Amino acid sequence: MPRDTDRSHLHPVFRAKLADLETALAAAGLPLLLFEAGRAPQRQQELFAQGRVTGCGTFGKHVTNAKPWQSFHQFGLAADYVFFVDGKWTWDQPTPGAWERYTTIASQVGLRSLSFERPHVELPVALSVLQAGHYPDGGDQTWVDWLDSMIEGWPHNATSIDGITYPGAPPMPTAILRPPLVA
Ligand SMILES: [Zn+2]
Repeated sequence: MPRDTDRSHLHPVFRAKLADLETALAAAGLPLLLFEAGRAPQRQQELFAQGRVTGCGTFGKHVTNAKPWQSFHQFGLAADYVFFVDGKWTWDQPTPGAWERYTTIASQVGLRSLSFERPHVELPVALSVLQAGHYPDGGDQTWVDWLDSMIEGWPHNATSIDGITYPGAPPMPTAILRPPLVA
C-alpha cells in the first residue's frame, strides 16, 4: 500500500500545526519534508507484519510497534518528516544535531515526538480517547470522510491475520460531528 501525503486527510487542528512546523523548519534551514501523513489500517497492518510474519521483511527486524488503530496516523493526527537532500529521501541527518533540532521545533509548535521514531510527530492527545471514538473538535468534512472510509474499510471487531490479532476499528466520527436528523 502506498504512502499517503494528502493533507486533506488530516484533522484541521493538526494540519495547522504542521504548517507552523514547516514555517519553523524552513526558518531553521532544515530540509525536512512531509513523507507520510494519514495511514490506512491495512498499511499499518502490513508495516506491523514486517519482520514478524514469515515472508514480510527480515524476520526480527520490526518497522513499527503499533498495530492498526494504535498509531495516530490512522486518525489523521500524525505525520512523518524525512530529510530530502539532493532530490533524495534520507534518514541520515545532513548536519549533526538536525534530528534533535526537529524534535525541539516540533515541541515548540505543540506537537509530540516519539524517542524511538524520529520522523514522527503527532497531536498530543491520549490514544485511548481516540480509540473510544472521541475525536478533537474542529474536524472538517474531508477529514471526516477520510476517517469514515478508513473505519468502514476495517472490521469492527478484533481480527486475526497470519496468526496476529489486530484491534477492531473505533466508532465513526460522523456520530459526533453530524447531529441526528430530527423527524
Ligand atoms: Zn509516524
